[in-house]
Amino acid sequence: MSLITNLNGEPYVEGIALHAIADRFGTPCYVYSRAALTAAFDAYRAALATRNARICYAVKANSNLAILNIFARLGAGFDIVSGGELARVIAAGGDPAKVIFSGVGKSRAEMRQALEAGIHCFNVESASEIDQLNAVASAMGMRAPIALRVNPNVDPKTHPYISTGLKTSKFGVAFDTARELYHRAHALPHLVIRGIACHIGSQLLDPQPAADAAGKVLELVSSLAADGIVFEHIDLGGGMGIRYHDEHVLATADYLAPLLARLAGREEMLCVEPGRSLVGNAGLLLTRVEVLKHGEEKNFAVVDAAMNDLARPALYDAWHDIVKVGSGGTAITPQHYEIVGPICESGDFLGHDRELALAEGDLLAILSAGAYGMAMSSNYNTRPRAAEVMVDGDHMHLIRRRETVAELLALESLLP
Ligand SMILES: *Cc1c(COP(=O)(O)O)cnc(C)c1O
Repeated sequence: MSLITNLNGEPYVEGIALHAIADRFGTPCYVYSRAALTAAFDAYRAALATRNARICYAVKANSNLAILNIFARLGAGFDIVSGGELARVIAAGGDPAKVIFSGVGKSRAEMRQALEAGIHCFNVESASEIDQLNAVASAMGMRAPIALRVNPNVDPKTHPYISTGLKTSKFGVAFDTARELYHRAHALPHLVIRGIACHIGSQLLDPQPAADAAGKVLELVSSLAADGIVFEHIDLGGGMGIRYHDEHVLATADYLAPLLARLAGREEMLCVEPGRSLVGNAGLLLTRVEVLKHGEEKNFAVVDAAMNDLARPALYDAWHDIVKVGSGGTAITPQHYEIVGPICESGDFLGHDRELALAEGDLLAILSAGAYGMAMSSNYNTRPRAAEVMVDGDHMHLIRRRETVAELLALESLLP
């Protein structure tokens, strides 16, 4: 389902015209659809309906409070990677008892914060984290609930920057040492073993690597059960890919089917940690063409969004579809454009070689920008971060106002 629908040549998200959003809130501006977020969540819920399961939204994909609140109202748990994200989940009305805390470098302060909040589980990623967490919990007179994030050493066949389950990866504990580490954790008085976890990467289109990883995790589960270590839950991570361009993407239920087949007959609660697949195609980035430069070799459309707003093209050479908003200017001949931002970096592009009929002042929509868009944005070049707007039926809600330059300067001080 496409986020944009056309009514008489005028593009809408739900009941709101994109032009109306740009007129009211300016550009660049992220636009999300509540209906699309809900539909993505419901697809997971339906696929998992027949078993004991929990959907823990991976907050890092998009951590806006309104988005977290929508998922909290739908009953989601949350997968977090920092104390800051935990504070967001709580501020958004999320239930700490459904929070999983992932990450290779949790600080002692973050461990304390999460123990105080009463989270469901720490996904422990190293031998020393076992000891650190035991010490922190001991000082608080508590027991910390844990799972080990195991690294099944399967290749998810995705971009190397978002591939996390290989032996060479910094994430998780090596498969071959996991059994011994579980025994070590089991013997510590201030830890309680809740589960086992794995997450092999992101933007996965083929379900087979994740199913293979699940198979390896289940081997461990069986050998540990023989040792008397049993689990409440099995966490198979996130990573399901979305359509950015012409990828062949399975429906959620079809992607999950091979995983669920592996788990057939098992009693443990299944946790999944989807991020991108819940929010990616529920958001777009609206931007306006500032300047057209027609050159001998290349044409440039300089827009008011840049790599600080949407880093994925610069960071991963990622493709986002870019469409013109509105059918105005039909007299203009389409040309091939480099769609670039105003930042002083040659890597500051949003799309290469896009055929568009453009005039200065035109509005463009950069699609599939709901995940790892705003969440990865920065203030590079002292650019205030974009506004964020949630469309809900015939209503548009400003869910994050545009920053001002004064706010950016306010954190800094001159020497005396
Ligand atoms: C990033 C991450 C996710 C979410 O990945 P998506 O590809 O966005 O679904 C889930 N679990 C962990 C541990 C992560 O680091």
